[in-house]
Amino acid sequence: MIKTHKIKIYPNATMRKVLNSLFDYRRYCYNQALETWNAMYDESTILADKSRRPNERKVRDELVENKQDWQYLQSARVLQLAVRDLAKGWKNYFNPKMPNHAKPRFKSKKWSKHVFKTDRAKVIDGRLRLDKPHGSGVWYDIRLAEIPRWQGAIKLVTVIEEADGYYACLAIEVTDTVVEKHGDRVTGVDANVARFDYKDANGYQRINTLPQRLLKLYQHITAYQRQLARKRVTNPTNFRSNNYRATRTKLKRDYQKVSRIQEDLLKKFTIKLVAEWDVIAIEDLDNLHMRMNKRLAKNLHRSMFGKFKQMMVYKCAWRGVRLVLVDPFYPSTQRCSQCGYIKTGDDKIGLNGNHLYHTGHDDYVCYQCGAVMRRDENAVENLIQYAS
Ligand SMILES: [Zn+2]
Repeated sequence: MIKTHKIKIYPNATMRKVLNSLFDYRRYCYNQALETWNAMYDESTILADKSRRPNERKVRDELVENKQDWQYLQSARVLQLAVRDLAKGWKNYFNPKMPNHAKPRFKSKKWSKHVFKTDRAKVIDGRLRLDKPHGSGVWYDIRLAEIPRWQGAIKLVTVIEEADGYYACLAIEVTDTVVEKHGDRVTGVDANVARFDYKDANGYQRINTLPQRLLKLYQHITAYQRQLARKRVTNPTNFRSNNYRATRTKLKRDYQKVSRIQEDLLKKFTIKLVAEWDVIAIEDLDNLHMRMNKRLAKNLHRSMFGKFKQMMVYKCAWRGVRLVLVDPFYPSTQRCSQCGYIKTGDDKIGLNGNHLYHTGHDDYVCYQCGAVMRRDENAVENLIQYAS
């Protein structure tokens, strides 16, 4: 089983220079690979010959064969892993289960993430050892802010530059054996824009997923994005003005704060869930279907629910919890958890309740058995029944 740990690293000026050149080299390789991939694909369609279709191996061989002289001074692993990621990108793009996956695009120097991957890094005496770059004189290991949380072989290291410095994500092969839980304690989590509803031993609970400080950050981000867009229009040739840079730095910082708040919230919640339950039902939600207020930095907040599902999948696997992904077409909102009646047509409840019967957003009234419940509690009950 692979577990990842993201650790801050402290490279000195020489190392930073090397890391930056590796970021550039990865971007270069990725773009080259995409170009080659597209060319091979076009060729195969023109010649109507499927055997000429591109794949990871063919594209990689092509790039290796056509290496420029200067490339021999660069890490071969970075090239190979860039091609592998491109192949993964195409696979995800064509996977019908991942409808939101974007088509692989060329990465621009200005906008792409500063990142590279290597599978040859080691941690020695609490420091990160990367391959010694060709032609460099003295080469030291990079100081890590903490020791890796897990023991095991390091399979892959992703180095990334963020607003406040550099980080290494270590993917570590852990040999723990998972003990499957066989109990029958079942709970369900109903995800909404601003909260998670679930049930524990003390009854129905809710977790606020949109605290005030997150909302504030979303508003700042929207404002900064607008400012940057305006600056680009008024001064298209001078992207590097001090003003522009300052705003971009603020934006980056806020992005980082958002992702930290989201992750902290999700981590605490998911750890609690997997510790307390044997079976957990969550909706297999397509992020795009999450309806939300226009003013929330939409994609940013939506991404939180994708992260939630991801975290649940791996945390449940580690702890031997059975995770039930409920079919998105299962009518957990419309179904009555008491009698099983499913509302249709004008009886349905929408975002603002039901017009015909004048019920509010938070109410569930069953017209079959007369049960009156809170809408979210009814949904949680339905999820629990689905999984039981
Ligand atoms: Zn009913």
